Amino acid sequence: MNFVKENNRVIPAEDKVFALSGRAKAAIAKKGKDAVINATVGALLDDNGDLVVMSSVVDAIRTLTPQDYAEYAPITGTPAFKEAVVKALFGNYKPSGHVEVCVTPGGTGSITNVIANYSQPGDFVLTHDWCWANYRNICSQQGRKLATFRFFNEEGSFNADDLEIRINELAVHQDQVVLMINTPAHNPTGYSLSNEDWEKLIRIVNKAACKVVLFMDIAYIDYAGEEDEVRSFIPMLAKLGDNVLPIFGYSTSKTLTAYGMRCGAIVCMAKNAEDAEEFRRAAEYSARSTWSNCNRSAMVVMGKIYSDPELQAKVDEERRMYRDMLLERGRVFEKTLNDNGVKCVPFTAGFFVTIACDDPASVGKKLEEQDIFCLALAKGIRVSIASISKEKCVKCAEAIAALLK
Ligand code: PLP
Repeated sequence: MNFVKENNRVIPAEDKVFALSGRAKAAIAKKGKDAVINATVGALLDDNGDLVVMSSVVDAIRTLTPQDYAEYAPITGTPAFKEAVVKALFGNYKPSGHVEVCVTPGGTGSITNVIANYSQPGDFVLTHDWCWANYRNICSQQGRKLATFRFFNEEGSFNADDLEIRINELAVHQDQVVLMINTPAHNPTGYSLSNEDWEKLIRIVNKAACKVVLFMDIAYIDYAGEEDEVRSFIPMLAKLGDNVLPIFGYSTSKTLTAYGMRCGAIVCMAKNAEDAEEFRRAAEYSARSTWSNCNRSAMVVMGKIYSDPELQAKVDEERRMYRDMLLERGRVFEKTLNDNGVKCVPFTAGFFVTIACDDPASVGKKLEEQDIFCLALAKGIRVSIASISKEKCVKCAEAIAALLK
């Protein structure tokens, strides 16, 4: 009968990542945890393969009153939540300009809301060629198309030249382009733009022949390295021209290891009060007409943590421990690959490492035959080091290197 209108979307029979992860779980049920490497999950697991849940966050959740989760929240978020997001996002840096916050269901909601308000149906949204696959779906869900620039040049550095070409190509047909940059600890490569890369990017968007909405997807910022260092690009944004509107996409999923609480935010740092007010008005309208208001209990938890220095210190300390565990896995994985003569796509930190290869689908299949489950992308294999122990990182890197050599 075909009742569904496809509307130019490609709707698969099942989500690729969840299907793969289902096969990995079935293999674990049959052969046991130790015999299987499930490097598919985009969530942080401890060395036993159990989901990391920060006890300090759980303590804050336990103090919630019935009203905290039962009552509707304001559409753009509670005042305490907004304050908390500003603190969490900017850390020791002071944002420049006029800051406005709107709560969203996770980082995913922040992307949806920005695309709805800063691009038109039929427009291209620009991002790097290596990108979170959901970017494309979020665009097509709203009748937008995704254009990409080559993230890395032949030397393995940030490809500012291709960004400049692609943005100006789009500027021929669009007066405004949403440019989505996922950094630090990019999914799927783990790359973090250096401050030198940021200098180049800022020069390019300032000179672009169109207005640019610079959307910075910082979902993984709290796992990318030392807090101040990973935020050191923020003061550089003061150099953005009048044609550029910077907006951050923030996610509490990773920051609080609270993926299921579905909380995040868009944070606009406008040069003037009018642009900030326009952002608030549009973000609120889009929120109201899609998910309406967000999870109040998650907002209350954020507010509690960031208004209580002692509790915040506890959460920061606990997260630091997991972050360092993840950074160590990354170092070990990359070193093992290199020692076995294979290089990954430029990696800095984070949940994922990607290895470029020909025919990733067949490499993925061969790995699966060895009970190693990794996601085959169009141009490589993505390994979630967030979900496997250091020992499994070594085994996984060795197996991939053996297949690729
Ligand atoms: N951005 C990137 C690059 C991601 O990989 C993810 C999650 O995997 C998100 C945003 C949003 O995550 P959530 O909606 O769970 O906060």
